[in-house]
Amino acid sequence: MLVIISGPSGSGKGTLVKKLLPENNFALSISMTTRKKRDGEKNGIDYFFCNEKEFVIARDSGKLLEHAQFCGNFYGTPKFYVEQQIKKKKYVVLEIDVIGALQVKEKFDNCILIFLITPDYKELSKRLIERKTDSPETIENRLFRAREEIKLINKYDYLVVNDDIEKSVEKVNCIVKAESLRPKRNLKFIKNF
Ligand code: 5GP
Repeated sequence: MLVIISGPSGSGKGTLVKKLLPENNFALSISMTTRKKRDGEKNGIDYFFCNEKEFVIARDSGKLLEHAQFCGNFYGTPKFYVEQQIKKKKYVVLEIDVIGALQVKEKFDNCILIFLITPDYKELSKRLIERKTDSPETIENRLFRAREEIKLINKYDYLVVNDDIEKSVEKVNCIVKAESLRPKRNLKFIKNF
């Protein structure tokens, strides 16, 4: 099962995903990006940072499961890791934007789409300003993108309002547990009868 977490920059996706990992049977996919590394980010842990040429080669040789452009940078999910973890029966978590999420939904039946937001727009804007990782222009672009992404919310299965990170982690865990109990994901037990 693929667990896709989307939501505006600043909604808390990164924190949520890191807190999810010790539980259940999760494996986090690491994306490729042409975005510049932020302070504290590590290559191979937060992203595989690359230049545009390297990204285009990976994309055009079919090595990416999905890809998208976001605020002037390229982002994509390497196929290899996802396929490897699926074979190990892990819940693979993809923290990706809406465009990428819809590409994955087209290709995979077995995915859950979860959208994470802040309680309101003002809070989102506040978080982006306070985290001091982006220029005012980039923040403006990211806020614009957030308003665009939310228009596609009806393509998602779940909406989690992140007003408390621990509760949001619990909600996502509950979603995944409930989804794993769907009959279509338990055919081997049904066949026993
Ligand atoms: P950031 O620059 O804040 O790390 O990420 C910007 C946006 O790109 C976020 O919405 C994030 O979820 C999304 N993103 C990160 N990795 C990928 C990816 O591999 N594919 C797609 N489509 N979006 C991604």
